[in-house]
Amino acid sequence: MNMLQDKVVIITGAAAGIGKAAAELFLREGAQLMLVDIDRKALQATATSLQSTHVSYCVADVSKAADVQQYLQKTLDTFGTVDVFFCNAGIEGLVRPMADYPEEMFDKVIAVNLKSVWLSCKYILPRMSDGGSVIITSSVAGLKGFEGLGAYVASKHGTVGLMRTAALEFADREIRVNSIHPGPVHTEMMRRVEKEISPKNIHDAQKGFEAAIPFKRYAKPEDIAALALFLASDHSTYITGCTYVVDGGMICK
Ligand code: NAD
Repeated sequence: MNMLQDKVVIITGAAAGIGKAAAELFLREGAQLMLVDIDRKALQATATSLQSTHVSYCVADVSKAADVQQYLQKTLDTFGTVDVFFCNAGIEGLVRPMADYPEEMFDKVIAVNLKSVWLSCKYILPRMSDGGSVIITSSVAGLKGFEGLGAYVASKHGTVGLMRTAALEFADREIRVNSIHPGPVHTEMMRRVEKEISPKNIHDAQKGFEAAIPFKRYAKPEDIAALALFLASDHSTYITGCTYVVDGGMICK
């Protein structure tokens, strides 16, 4: 369908999971891609697997200002502009009650999940083309609380505040800024969370999550990528400042 024909798209957290699924889908839809991730080996493998001259990549830590400026510059040098920014990299941190949560890990989760979004608003959005689209991956944990996930929940709620503010600040150039809110998705992130919750048998934790989802199953990464595609495309040019839930009904409970 070529919904992103010739659009220049940056995807962070592109080496795995949701970001990788988006890279595959966006490429099929005609985009030129800058893939960004902290994991060099996995990023190289993902970029190579796409087998396209329309794909470039940059190893970067999204929580570091110098790295953000570096992958922005590489995108401008390679493709000349940025039309779509899929701000997707994130970490889960630990599953612990707040009283037991290590301060260093709280700081890390806030840096990778929230400060990174602010750094993007500061450096990338001003350089985007007019009429561009920014999609921030928050979570259902950006809209409701989850016991044991205080740092993650705080970081993902925080992205909603930045999203709404950026939507206002860039509205004069019709750059739209929206957030997406997945429930559990079959990626390595959920495998790590399940292991934290029930180290002896991750299937117990998985069953617990599935019971909380009206569809009784996790999403596939492709389900999330499909929503990001709509928001990246010209089918959503009048939509900004919105939260999009993609969770099999989990938020309704
Ligand atoms: P994932 O762990 O499979 O992939 C995340 C990617 O981000 C990895 O390739 C990792 O190397 C990269 N990354 C981590 N820290 C980084 C950093 N500092 N700089 C650059 N890259 C970094 O996870 P996923 O499930 O694909 O998660 C993608 C996004 O979706 C995250 O923001 C996550 O919070 C969110 N999310 C995931 C789920 C889920 O159930 N998997 C649910 C809701 C929201």
